[in-house]
Amino acid sequence: MQKIDYFLLASKNHSENEVIIGGIISVNVKGCYKTMSLPNCPQCNSSYVYEDQAMLICPECAHEWNPNEEVVDEDALIIKDAGGNLLQEGDKVTLAKDLKVKGSSQVLKIGTKATIKRLVDGDHDIDCKLDGGGDMMLKSKFVKKMS
Ligand SMILES: [Zn+2]
Repeated sequence: MQKIDYFLLASKNHSENEVIIGGIISVNVKGCYKTMSLPNCPQCNSSYVYEDQAMLICPECAHEWNPNEEVVDEDALIIKDAGGNLLQEGDKVTLAKDLKVKGSSQVLKIGTKATIKRLVDGDHDIDCKLDGGGDMMLKSKFVKKMS
């Protein structure tokens, strides 16, 4: 996330809808300070978030949070390969064994390379793009992460 330090130079001399923030003129419609450098509110997705010292504050739902605190994604899937290594989207893997493709006579050979596109909560828990082939849902326990 981009962080920009600035001084708030708002004064009553400026028109109500115009606030100068660090030299960037930001005009808004709701009477809140709008800057392009701050993230939207994580609760209501408002773009009128403003900064107060280390905190970010949403004027629409009154949510306050510290952008420097890491947000723990409780929905993150823990998916491991055949060797117990954590897998993430974008990881390159190889097949740890020959796999028969359901509903066809095709066999994916051990050592076939693939890239994980998406982690999925299910029986086949990784959505992969095979090297030189199509997309395939695989089971993480049948792949090995490439180092
Ligand atoms: Zn909000």
